[in-house]
Amino acid sequence: MRITVDDRAVDVPDGLPLLRALHAVGIDVPSLCDDPRLAPYGECRMCLVHVEGHTQPVASCLTEVTPDMTVTTASADLESARHGMLEMLAQHYPPLAITTSADKPLHELFALNDVPALGRDRADLHDDTHPCIAIDMNRCIDCFRCVRICDEVQGQFAWQLVGRGADTHVVPSGADTLVASPCVSCGACVDTCPTGALEDRSVIELGRPTRWTRTTCPYCGVGCELLVGTREEHVVTAVPALDAPVNHGHACVKGRYGHGFVHAGDRALEPMLRDGDGWHSVSWEAAIARVAEDFRRALERTGPKSVGVLGSARATNEDNYVLQKFARLVLGTNNVDCCARVCHAPSAAGLRHAFGTGAATNSFADIEHARTIVVCGANATENHPVVGARIKQAARHGATLIVIDPRRIELAEHADVHLRPVPGTNVLLLNAIAAAIIDERLVDEGFMHERVDGFDEYAVTTAQYLPERVAGRCGVDADAIRAAARLYATNRPAMIFHGLGVTEHAQGTAAVVCLANLALLTGNVGRAGSGVNPLRGQNNVQGAAHMGCEPDFLTGFAPIAAAPWFADVWGAAIPEADGLDAMEMLDAAAVGALHALWVVGWDIRQTQPNATMTERALASLDTLVVQDLFLNETARQHATIFLPACSTFEKNGTFMNGERRVQRVRKVIEPLGNSRADWEIVCAVADAMGQAEQFAFADPAAIWDEIRAVWPAGAGMSYARLDAPGGLQWPCPTDDHPGTTLLHANGFTAGPRAPLHPIDHTPSPEDEHPDFPLLLITGRALDQFNSGTMTRRSLTNALRTTDTLDLSAADAAAIGITDGERVELTSRYGTAVLPARVSHAMQAGQCFATFSDPDTDLNRVTGPHRDPVTNTPEYKRTMVNVRRGKREP
Ligand code: SF4
Repeated sequence: MRITVDDRAVDVPDGLPLLRALHAVGIDVPSLCDDPRLAPYGECRMCLVHVEGHTQPVASCLTEVTPDMTVTTASADLESARHGMLEMLAQHYPPLAITTSADKPLHELFALNDVPALGRDRADLHDDTHPCIAIDMNRCIDCFRCVRICDEVQGQFAWQLVGRGADTHVVPSGADTLVASPCVSCGACVDTCPTGALEDRSVIELGRPTRWTRTTCPYCGVGCELLVGTREEHVVTAVPALDAPVNHGHACVKGRYGHGFVHAGDRALEPMLRDGDGWHSVSWEAAIARVAEDFRRALERTGPKSVGVLGSARATNEDNYVLQKFARLVLGTNNVDCCARVCHAPSAAGLRHAFGTGAATNSFADIEHARTIVVCGANATENHPVVGARIKQAARHGATLIVIDPRRIELAEHADVHLRPVPGTNVLLLNAIAAAIIDERLVDEGFMHERVDGFDEYAVTTAQYLPERVAGRCGVDADAIRAAARLYATNRPAMIFHGLGVTEHAQGTAAVVCLANLALLTGNVGRAGSGVNPLRGQNNVQGAAHMGCEPDFLTGFAPIAAAPWFADVWGAAIPEADGLDAMEMLDAAAVGALHALWVVGWDIRQTQPNATMTERALASLDTLVVQDLFLNETARQHATIFLPACSTFEKNGTFMNGERRVQRVRKVIEPLGNSRADWEIVCAVADAMGQAEQFAFADPAAIWDEIRAVWPAGAGMSYARLDAPGGLQWPCPTDDHPGTTLLHANGFTAGPRAPLHPIDHTPSPEDEHPDFPLLLITGRALDQFNSGTMTRRSLTNALRTTDTLDLSAADAAAIGITDGERVELTSRYGTAVLPARVSHAMQAGQCFATFSDPDTDLNRVTGPHRDPVTNTPEYKRTMVNVRRGKREP
């Protein structure tokens, strides 16, 4: 829209308030209370401008842009008004605050307008109790941006206003300190604060960053883009990128404050060989020669079936691509896998079976288009917090929310229907929803006619699961199942998100297919705001598998037997023998059939279930190479060779998030010590094993170009294009293709129609037993990540220092334990000791534990059962006994 600003014609974007429209074209009008992430507020009066036709200055943040309007941003009276406002703020403002952080917006305005601060510092206005956020309310100017961003973006309401009129001020909600409030430490209040009243502790301690680098978060599969601030090659802070399409200027506690691990004192920065019982540092040449020698010896003695490699969800696409190519070309084996095996392999298998492509059908942006959102087996606000906050906000703004989860997770507080199935009964429950939809004639007949096959057979099978027949076995009320079915089928578009509460079961793949059946039945696929969308757990777990760290698939999930072009690009034949997945490799090791294993960025000892069995397998190996940032439990207890990898802050590459989006990872600092990028290490070993030519990559960009050459759906995603905010979502087959936000809009991968798949329920082999009366669910929590390797070494650790066992008040009373008391948790497979936590989220008969503390060693307790299709372990159902008491040291 064309308007006149300060006597010149200016074209400003439509749809923005005047202040933001002026900022968008580079016209500087000051403001203290505005933030593009928030609704305009009009409190600070710094953004006053003259608009022709108005007798008085107007607050530009509250003014609509109209065609041909004439605006004056600078005049004597405007300057005088702003000066007066600043003088008023300066009356009680402590001068020292300005000198320590001159770049804060308020401090820049004080300097620009030559306004001195005249206040004094009051000790009682400091709150130093939060491990990540320092609070100095001497600097608060009552713009209420902190309060508003916590409400409007995070939906947490951790800040509140107290007092009236001029006495109104900001305090933590319901507590004396922020850390005791409902705060989730997302740092949004810090990001928006214009004065430094709220500040990152790390910035105060290490100094203000002198350089900012845009990269992608190293934690969960949401894939938030971050700006990482550094000073003298030290990571100081990380803030969300405002223009990132995934996170829109928001992050969570891990992305925001979980970077301390980079400079942790126990980073392992030298290659090491185990000699006797101890580790000895060696040169890279010696370490690589030893890896090559050990694998060569295993190959000579027992052949390619006896060696394997495991890729990493924490490593880049480029790292994982090179690793699986190494397994296939250098070792001659398809024994290659990654940790998708233990999380979302059932999602890939189930969605591939149902729709032809094993990945999320839609995009996170669809949350705002969905009229109904189903969150099934996913604690999104803790494990995918930025997406979780978006779902919470959608529910607050009117979207229907159905939560399917045995625990009363935070999203359940916002849900219209909360179904709490007994873990292990997802297939029963999802079939019951489908049966109710058919029974109540809520099927989308038009969609069925145009795009779906197999209804009749499916309806016969599913009729066995009417809610009234299965409700008792699921532990869910039949009327509630029918209510959920009606909402999902009629209040469309309806979007499903699911997590490990679906996949980490003996019925994992079956349950994913059940979800896909629901989407097909109701026409909730192929349109915005619908679909079936796995919330991927780790930053690049989607990418690691997609790059070919899978025994049955090459890059792009190309079946090994049907992808002849790989041999052309690689200049060598691909091994044809079936490969072993991660679980099978450990099984093989335990019986002496696997001799050498190379594990990159995955602490299998701590995170695999049934730790006693994992230990036996790892102890049986002749060679165990661990490549990581730290001597993790796998390395510490069992490795023979340790190779120091650098973190993702220290290298270039790409990650793939849970919505098929490939985004750039950029080097923020040089690799610390003697650490190297994963791909460089793998290429060096390939060289030492006589295969230099196929691994002669100059940099990650060269690897990415080869990936594009073998992966048709990614061919259009050059680094140059990926450099734009948000990267691109595949399929993106050509250089001019815009990327794909929505799959299956006009057909399915295999053709125009998709079949419904009848699925019968198979009970879990983890059956009930009188000696083990409680059902244990394991999972993650907000402040720690998986094995805790990174978060335990960051400021976030202080927010949750160890694992806990969450129990209902009824069970705690029956066992005779109190909150915080250490308990002994025993299953058929082992024992762990950890503090109990009485939690209103738990139902009687069930308990929940995290597994991020190696001292707890929680996976001592989890069992051997697996999804029969993918071998994904059944982490979500272990029968246990809980007792008071403490294991002897
Ligand atoms: Fe990182 Fe996930 Fe948090 Fe975003 S939501 S900041 S990607 S951990």
